[in-house]
Amino acid sequence: MTLGHPGREPRRAHLSYNPVFVAEPVRVPRERLPDGDLDPAVAYQIVHDELMLDGNARLNLATFVTSWMEPLADRLMAECAEKNMIDKDEYPRTAALEQRCVRMLAHLWRAPSADDAIGCSTTGSSEACMLAGLALKRRWQHARRAAGRPADRPNLVMGADVQICWEKFADYWDVEPRVVPMEGERFHLDAESAVARCDENTIGVVAVLGSTFDGSYEPVAEICAALDRSRDERDLDVPVHVDGASGAMIAPFCDPELPWDFRLDRVASINTSGHKYGLVYPGVGWVVWRDTAALPEDLVFSVNYLGGNMPTFALNFSRPGAQVVAQYFTFLRLGFEGYRRVQSTCRDVATSLADRIAELGPFRLLTRGDELPVFAFTLAGDVGGYSVFDVSAHLRERGWLVPAYTFPADRTDLAVLRIVVRNGMTHDLADLFLADLRRSLENLRRQPEPLRGAESGSFAHGAGTTRHPRSGRR
Ligand SMILES: *Cc1c(COP(=O)(O)O)cnc(C)c1O
Repeated sequence: MTLGHPGREPRRAHLSYNPVFVAEPVRVPRERLPDGDLDPAVAYQIVHDELMLDGNARLNLATFVTSWMEPLADRLMAECAEKNMIDKDEYPRTAALEQRCVRMLAHLWRAPSADDAIGCSTTGSSEACMLAGLALKRRWQHARRAAGRPADRPNLVMGADVQICWEKFADYWDVEPRVVPMEGERFHLDAESAVARCDENTIGVVAVLGSTFDGSYEPVAEICAALDRSRDERDLDVPVHVDGASGAMIAPFCDPELPWDFRLDRVASINTSGHKYGLVYPGVGWVVWRDTAALPEDLVFSVNYLGGNMPTFALNFSRPGAQVVAQYFTFLRLGFEGYRRVQSTCRDVATSLADRIAELGPFRLLTRGDELPVFAFTLAGDVGGYSVFDVSAHLRERGWLVPAYTFPADRTDLAVLRIVVRNGMTHDLADLFLADLRRSLENLRRQPEPLRGAESGSFAHGAGTTRHPRSGRR
């Protein structure tokens, strides 16, 4: 949903169109439903022409979201455009493909039994995180009520690097966010500070794999081990949710030895964005619970399915089925080995680009792209004539979108640039990018002082997002 922003667009009452394309002069109102109909080719041309002004996703190093799928996936998605995910009765095969995807993910994430694991597709990780958070909250409420204790002050422990969806979760569902600030060169949650913030009202700890701010993995196994100790010592049994929006589709292929998933008993649930490193167009996400005990039954509703009932857990009701079908197609198409090849190529490009950026001189790497294929870098201490925001603006002139933003508390003094390497960012493109970065630096070196600050920050996919100034809460 886009909220209206009064005054952003020129307030011309009618759309202008290229007269070459219309047989007869037409007047098309910009913001009112037109009175009459239009020839479909004319309507297509008007919409198509305007959308040509959107950016070129190939040069977008800001987003994590898939912007290319192969033509057969496009065809399958077009074939499924009318399928409604919620209508399991009408589209039982789509429903079956969704369940197969859930079991594939449960297996990939090492659930003790992929048949006992339970999960669903969502519109993205944001909805998946809402569902996982709700399950944590409800589980905690049940346990508290059963023990005759108050259940009205839930809190959730997380690092300051969480994506904005967790702030939304806490706000929308009245859960106190206990946010562990960054400190020095620690840019994400660590075990000790996480455990220190847990008490009897903690519904869970969110561990991020990996951070949208710098691509680093949070130490999930250490966090779980520290919580195991606090169960023994303080009688606190706090479950962990892993926000694997990106990393849950990287780590299984690139870091098979790293335990971050259901191999850790304390991990109750995991989410991922099918439309990030799951390699499907937006919007599809996934959430999987380790077993049925992790998802309280009273959150689950049932819908009609071939005369019977099928359990569902979702915020949306109607939702397109095409993305789920495309996810299943991609799982079949690539298999484990195909995903491993795509993701390790991304990581290869990321680490080598990071190394070469470090060699340029004016930058200091915060991460190297060796966890998520994503890295953040800042200006070296001796650079005074320009800011990271200036670098971002210069790159934008050459078509590259590289966001610059400041870190959250307590490192708001630190301003960084971040590069997300996705499928399609090849070594060749990385060479071109580096050549453009070099040329930008030649110009910037002649600049006496920085021209731009944080107010010029651009889209960073939930990193560095702030609330609308009109919202006075908090
Ligand atoms: C992108 C992201 C989200 C939000 O995911 P959407 O699929 O865009 O809704 C949540 N958490 C993390 C760690 C992310 O990277």
